[in-house]
Parts: sequence; structure tokens; C-alpha cells
Amino acid sequence: MTNEMFKKEAFKKSVKDNVKFLYRKTIEEATQEQIFQAVSYSVKDVIIDNWLATQKAYDEQDPKIVYYMSMEFLMGRALGNNLINLCAYGEVKEALEELGFDLNCIEDQEPDPALGNGGLGRLAACFLDSLATLNYAAYGCGIRYHYGMFKQKIQNGYQIEVPDNWLKNGYPFELRRPEYAKEVHFGGYVRVEYDPEKGGNKFIHEGYQAVKAIPYDMPITGYDNDVVNTLRIWDAEPIVDFELDSFDKGDYKKAVEQENLARNIVEVLYPNDNHYAGKELRLKQQYFFVSASLQAAIAKYKKKHDDIHKLYEKVTFQMNDTHPTVAVAELMRILMDEEGLGWDEAWEVTRKSVAYTNHTIMSEALEKWPIELFSRLLPRVYQIIEEINRRFILEIQAKYPGNYEKIKKMAIIYDGQVKMAHLAIAAGYSVNGVARLHTEILKNQELKDFYEMMPEKFNNKTNGITQRRFLLHANPLLADWITEHIGPDWVTDLPQLKKLAVYADDEKALQEFMNIKFKNKERLAKYILEHNGVEVDPHSIFDVQVKRLHEYKRQLLNILHVIYLYNQIKMHPEMEFYPRTFIFGAKASAGYATAKKIIKLINSVADVVNNDTSINGKIKVVFIENYRVSNAEWIFAAADVSEQISTASKEASGTGNMKFMLNGAPTLGTMDGANVEIVEEVGAENAFIFGLSSDEVINYENNGGYDPNVIYNTDEEIRQVLMQLINGTFSNDTELFRDLYDSLLNTKNTDRADRYFILADFRSYADAQKRVEAAYRDEKGWAKKALLNTACSGKFTSDRTIQEYVDDIWHLDKVIVRKK
Ligand SMILES: *Cc1c(COP(=O)(O)O)cnc(C)c1O
Repeated sequence: MTNEMFKKEAFKKSVKDNVKFLYRKTIEEATQEQIFQAVSYSVKDVIIDNWLATQKAYDEQDPKIVYYMSMEFLMGRALGNNLINLCAYGEVKEALEELGFDLNCIEDQEPDPALGNGGLGRLAACFLDSLATLNYAAYGCGIRYHYGMFKQKIQNGYQIEVPDNWLKNGYPFELRRPEYAKEVHFGGYVRVEYDPEKGGNKFIHEGYQAVKAIPYDMPITGYDNDVVNTLRIWDAEPIVDFELDSFDKGDYKKAVEQENLARNIVEVLYPNDNHYAGKELRLKQQYFFVSASLQAAIAKYKKKHDDIHKLYEKVTFQMNDTHPTVAVAELMRILMDEEGLGWDEAWEVTRKSVAYTNHTIMSEALEKWPIELFSRLLPRVYQIIEEINRRFILEIQAKYPGNYEKIKKMAIIYDGQVKMAHLAIAAGYSVNGVARLHTEILKNQELKDFYEMMPEKFNNKTNGITQRRFLLHANPLLADWITEHIGPDWVTDLPQLKKLAVYADDEKALQEFMNIKFKNKERLAKYILEHNGVEVDPHSIFDVQVKRLHEYKRQLLNILHVIYLYNQIKMHPEMEFYPRTFIFGAKASAGYATAKKIIKLINSVADVVNNDTSINGKIKVVFIENYRVSNAEWIFAAADVSEQISTASKEASGTGNMKFMLNGAPTLGTMDGANVEIVEEVGAENAFIFGLSSDEVINYENNGGYDPNVIYNTDEEIRQVLMQLINGTFSNDTELFRDLYDSLLNTKNTDRADRYFILADFRSYADAQKRVEAAYRDEKGWAKKALLNTACSGKFTSDRTIQEYVDDIWHLDKVIVRKK
């Protein structure tokens, strides 16, 4: 069912008109970037009609709405995705061809709105796609960072961070909505006044600085259902007009402060992934978007409903990690101070309205704010948290009389700090982990005390990904092939892929499947040649690790193993060795020195290995610059092997693992996160599993770690690899990689040597890599494994994840959008 607009002639006319109106140019004179803008506006025209129809349907049907609150939305490009979801990709491609343009090149003009770091932000984006596709009313709530994730350049092997000015040409898929602006207040003090009407105290916030929050809406199109939901991201502007107001009153300093506050607050996304930095500006960002989003949600509710006590019947707030947890206290504040509810009434509404998703158990990622900072920045909100804490401690005492250990471990405020996870759990009606293993660790270890006190809140929602972006758009050859074999229903019903399993022994089908993989490898090889200047052979095994650079993800294990293989080939030139291309892609947080050093090591090893003619190109190492959603799509489609090698227990779920599987790449991984469920779906014989289990890792950790020196002293080949970090093999500067060497062996700089069990798992990893090679030599056997990975990936659609959130947590109703 194609929109009239997408009839070729109408679409071509619309694009030509847009070029004329926007740029006063003819289509022949326009640049590719201008064509991108013009095409996007033509597509937006269609979307706007559906957007209006969706709002009308929501007005009429009054469904419960989920507000998905997240500091990050890693959306990826919108143009191609919108065309896919509007079922107009093919027609628009043809129309543009007739105008003399290649849709792929036009898509390539769009910046990635990189409003997220990695997995957590991409999860939020996949969830919005699934919510719209499944006909649920949803808003994404976030921040319109002017500079999102930095652009990564590699210079001399080092990561250089370049500002990502994604808004510089204007972003066509957003709509400024100044009529829905809200005010957000920071600092000041709270005056308490007796209110005779209420018969109680009134709390008045005074002396604050104010910022105006302006929403920008981005359309979220559902697949083939006319639904268009909204991602609402907030920008900040100063509230007073400098000259006219405060300047005249002589309050010059305050006016400047408010101006600066607004300018700073939405300037940049903090580039930390799975790491807490504790910066004041970060807390400002959190409160800013949470307060504005809650105010907007309540205003919308009140337009249709007059009883605020029943807010939770029509509205639910999902907090993506603890970043938006200040929502608990802000909702209490609005309900009490602005809506006039008493504490107990407000608490009743709040605890039925907010739910929390936990994304990590790593202590360095847990948000704790110093009381001093928190109470100074948000004095009224802090007062409320104190009271929530006081009452929560009474509950703990009632349940565990005299047990002060419990209070120490569970209190929301303790030891001078506000613990955001504790606040989220104490207040939320649901606490979920993001993969089965992760949720079990939460229940049995990290959050054991909370689980024992309130087991009914805890549940698991294994993450998922959208097949519309990561197969239908990313891998059109495979998508078409699948549709030819099992029909098109998999696009909205991914478990249908199971039907492909009947082709697992069909030689023709396997051949076609691997031919498609080969074409995708050629496409990636071309990208690598253009962007890295490195020639890679698409006949080699494409062994891929792309994800944020983090010690727990163990890119270091991967590159140390590459060094080990290189040594083996040099030592035994006659040895059978199937050519391999090791592909890395990873951004490191700008302040994470070890992570940046690992990037330098990967590039240094690449320099040596790629240029050593004595190994006949048997190993190539490629570091793909600026890993992001748009190049990720091509990388997944081209991968033979999916490296998911985190230290067991550290990766809560992972979602990259699912994208590889969907595209037919077997997992080489530890029993961590969702890998456990991937193996369960595809069968252990179609994956390559190695390493310590999460129980073993946790056991070591609880008993002071392990001693990597035993391995170093007894395993000569491992010792050689480590020595090469400091003997000039990969850098003339023998001190360059000393820190990495020390982190593995020396306890003097770190609290523990080899915190991430790299040496402990090395042999087991090398073994699994041998099994990969052997399996790949068996062409048919490998094709079968690859195909079965795709066939068994149905569980990992975010459509399934979202339906579970709806059934168990949110309880939303489906909305049907009908255009007249
Ligand atoms: C999926 C995705 C991630 C998450 O990858 P993991 O391997 O799960 O850490 C990060 N960045 C981008 C661009 C992605 O598409």
C-alpha cells in the first residue's frame, strides 16, 4: 500500500520543487547534500500526514502512553529507514535514478544523529521502531545535544576526537515545537510557609536560575501501518531577554548566568559508556530533560483527564538506566507542589508510574551523587529524596528489625551520597535486567537485598534489535533472498525465519546464502579500501569485533591473539592457515587512557602485520574509523565471525551479538549476556564458546582475583606475546605499551592484575579460534552454521522485547491509525 506521493512522477516533481524552493536551483545545479535535503522534505511531507492521523487516532482512542526516558537515542540515519518503513524504498530509488541520482549516495549525505554512545542508546532507538510498528502509543524523551558522539579520526594510529556538528546544515527530520516549551529551575533555596487552607506546610522554591526547554520532535514511523510516534528531544534557551529584563533591573550577573546555563546544558553528550563521571553538568542535563518531559506528559494528561490521582492508568515512565531516575522525585514535586496532592497520594501515583531498567552491575558505572552537589543544584528535589529515604529506611527496619547492615546496604542516601539505583528500585513498580543471565546476577548477587525485600518487582526483558534496520535496510540482498524463500512476514514476525531451517542441507540454497555473504564482503572491502586505504581479500575470513572500546569487552584479548597467530605463522611458515581479516571498530571515551592505548596497539599491530610480506597476506588487521550505526549496518552484513568475548558476567546483554546473528555470522564468545540465549537458540554446535563462566569469574573476584603470573611463567607463547608489547616489536618506543603490559601482570598500578581475566581465558580463546578455522574450511558445514544463525535469530527482535514490556510492565493497548 503505497502512498500517492510515492508514485514516481509525483515524487520527482516534489523533489524538484523542494530544490527550487530551498536553494533556488534546478536539479542539475544542486549538490548531493542539497538533493538529500530536498528528498528528505518530500518524504517528510508524507510522514506529516501520517503523524497527524496518528495524533488524531490517539486523541480519539485515548490509549495509555509509555514515555521512554533515555539520555541517549542512537538513531542512525533516518531517510533510508523511513523509506523502508513507509514501504517506498524501491519506488524512491527508481524515481531518483530517473533524475540521475543514486539513493545510496543520497543516503550517504545524511549525518548520523549520534545522540548516543553505544548499546544503551541503540536499544532505545530499536524500541521506538518496534513500539511504532506494533501500534503502541509512545514518546521517546531525550536531549537535543548540539554535539553528539564525537567523530573519530585515526592519526598515526591514535584516536583523535573531532566535534560532530550534526546540525550544521539543518536536520530535515525534526520539528521545532516552541508552543510546548517548559521552564526548568536550578539552584536557589526552599522557603517553607504554613498554608492555612491546606492545614500544612507549603514549599516555595526561590532564587533559582531558570532555563527554557524547547522540544524538537522527530517522527518515528512504524512499518507499513501509518503509525508515526514521536521522539521528543529538548533544547535549552535562556528564559529572559537579556537587555529588556534583567539588564534594566541591574541583575546583569544573573542574566549572564542564565544565558550560559542554557548554552552549556545541551551542548555535548558525555562520551562515557558504562562509566560514571559524576560531573555537575551531567546532573543538570538529567534534571533538565526529565523535568521538561514530566511537565509535558502531565499537561497532556490533564487535557483529557481531570483526576491526577489516576495518572498511572494512562501514563507510564520507563527509565533507561538510572540516568533519568531523578524523575521519581520530580514527579513527587510536581504532584505535591503544583497539583496539591499530599505525600501519600503523590507517592501512590509515583510508585505506580515509574519503572526502571538496569543495564550494568559494574561498580564504576553506578551513579552516586554527592549530597552537597545534589542539594545545591536541586534543593527541593533533594528534600523530597530525603523524605523518600527516611520512609524507605522505616520499611527496611519494619522488615528486618535491628538489622543495620541492611540499612547500610540499601539506603538511598548513605555515606554522603545519593544512590540513584536505590532510588529507582525503592520507587519503581518494575525493575528489569536486560538478559536472563544478567537478571539472575541482579537477583542473586548485586541486588540480592532488594530482591529479597521486593521480589515481585524483578523481571527479565532480554534485549532485541529491529530487523527493519539491521536486515531489511542493511542487507537488501539477504532480505530479498529470505522473502523469496519464506515470504515477507518475517519483517514484522521475525520467528518466521525458523522456516529457513529446511534449507540447512540444501546445497543450492547454501550456495546462494554464501554468495550473498561474499557480495556483502566485497561491499565492505570497497568501503575499507576507500576509508582506510587497506586492501582486504573478501575470500578471507572476516572476523569482526565492533563495539565501544572497553576493557571488559576485551579487544585486548583479540589483538593479543592476533599477535600470537602472527608469531605462529612466522615460526612455522609451512603451517596451514586460512587467511583472516581481523576487523575492529570502536570509539574510546575521550578520557579513558587505557582504551585509547588499546586502539593505538591495534593500529600498531596492523602496521607491522599488514606490511610484513613474509606472511603472504595471511593476516590483515583493519581498524575502521568512526564506528557508528550507518557503517555498522554494512559491517554486520559482511561478517563471518562475531566476536563477543567480554569477561563473563560483565556484558549485561549486548545487542551487537544479535545483529551479527541475524546476518548469518556465528558467535565466537563467552557465556555472557545474551550470548547464553543465542547459543540456546542456535545450538552449541553453531557457535564457538570459550572461557570462564560468570560463576567462576564472580568466585575469583570474591576471593581477591587470580594470579596471571602463573600463566605468564608457564606458557612460553603467551609470555612471548606479552614481551612483544615492551620489546619494540610494535613500536620503537618500548614504553608505549608498558601500561597495558603492567595491567596484565603487575599489581602495582591497579588494584588487581588482569582484572578482566585475559590471560586466564587466552588458551581457551585460541582453541575456539582454531575450531573456527577448521569449521570454515568445511565450506558446506560453515554455510549451514551461518544459515542456521539467521534462521534461529527470531527471538532477538525488539518486537518480542517490546511485547514483553507491554504484557508484563506497561499494559498498553494497540491503536489503529486509519487515514480518511
Ligand atoms: C549495536 C550497536 C552497539 C552495541 O554493540 P555491543 O556489541 O552490544 O556493545 C554499539 N554501537 C553501535 C553503532 C551499534 O549499532
